Amino acid sequence: MTDLFKLSDKIIREGVANEPVNRVNFELSEIANGIAMVEAFSHSIVFATDDGLVTFDTSAEFGGQPVVKAIRGWNKDRFHSLVYTHGHVDHVGGSGAFVQSERDAKRPDPAVIGHENISARFDRYNMTNGYNLVVNKRQFGRAGMSNVAGMNPAGLTGGPTFLPKTAARPDITFKEEMSLSVGGLEIKLKHAKGETDDHAWAWIPEHKAICAGDFFIWNFPNAGNPQKVQRFPVEWAAAMRDMASMNAEMLLPAHGLPIRGSEQIKAVLEDSATALEGLVRDTLEMMNAGATKNDIVHAVSVSQELLDKPYLRPLYDEPEFVVNNIWRLYGGWYDGNPANLKPARESELASEIAQLSGGSIVLAERAEELAAAGDFRLACHLIELAVQSDFNSKQIHGIRAKIYKQRRKIESSLMAKGIFGYAARESSSKSE
Ligand SMILES: [Zn+2]
Repeated sequence: MTDLFKLSDKIIREGVANEPVNRVNFELSEIANGIAMVEAFSHSIVFATDDGLVTFDTSAEFGGQPVVKAIRGWNKDRFHSLVYTHGHVDHVGGSGAFVQSERDAKRPDPAVIGHENISARFDRYNMTNGYNLVVNKRQFGRAGMSNVAGMNPAGLTGGPTFLPKTAARPDITFKEEMSLSVGGLEIKLKHAKGETDDHAWAWIPEHKAICAGDFFIWNFPNAGNPQKVQRFPVEWAAAMRDMASMNAEMLLPAHGLPIRGSEQIKAVLEDSATALEGLVRDTLEMMNAGATKNDIVHAVSVSQELLDKPYLRPLYDEPEFVVNNIWRLYGGWYDGNPANLKPARESELASEIAQLSGGSIVLAERAEELAAAGDFRLACHLIELAVQSDFNSKQIHGIRAKIYKQRRKIESSLMAKGIFGYAARESSSKSE
């Protein structure tokens, strides 16, 4: 059994994550007396009480069974309550396995507890099922989560439904706060918006422990995700400050390693809050001065010192995407370029430009040159124009595939890698 606290101490102290921090090994670690963490996608964090087990998050659909098995090897008491930190499928998807294990043992179903917006999220997932499956293909396609700090997407893309049919809806919900008392263990749940509008974190006074859900994921906060609904960086940062004020001795996130020690916990939470607050402050300052979205995206960033922290690396999401999300949150979708308000068909614009420049292939070859010089932002604009003006050219698709393959390699975030990798595959299949 890895000593997870020791590992996180070392990584934070040395400032280098030269070992995976997000591990999906279904290994259970007893991190304190009566508290276990099963590392999965997402983790389950389990508290043993006199009335049975209280479990925070149930992992994804594919993880439910192995996580339950790992917990059963540690404690065979009933699952008294499942608490969802939020309604993302990697947190609620495994709930069916927990419920089934109680039914197999002829015991009552566990109570399922979560924020009141989770049910509406489930409805939305069903309304947008096709879209979410497409997004998963792009986000986790070949640039699997396994490439990012050991995460593994297996099962996320496999099923016909994005939200597993067996995912249990919460039967006990709350709006702002809720106190739970189970078998002598007191738990305080606090709602805060952040990655989602249905998020909660928990304070367990007996252990001075925080279950942080996805507020802290050992990566740059997932506050920008280009293919998902709105995130809330201001409230997110406030929740981190709130947690930092608790003098917690244990920080138990749903992804990544647990962290111990009040000083260390305070520092990592405050660093994360500072990064988000800076992005919001600088983006709003430019918005208020009348800048366009494009100007802001090219001007606002996070200090390298913060991005280098082993728990803030932009390997999943990245600051630039957060800036876009802040714009959408406070400004709407109009980006300040009047041509984009009611745009032409992209293929018509592309044909016009191709004609002016001497043909689609001229655009494609220039794109190739720019890519070779390392200017992938510009190269991708030109190659999109080239392919949109001549969609059936195998030669242009070949160049496009090559450019996006290279770009995928140099990007750091899984989200960028996913989209560029998808574009490369799209064109690879059309270039033969
Ligand atoms: Zn998560």
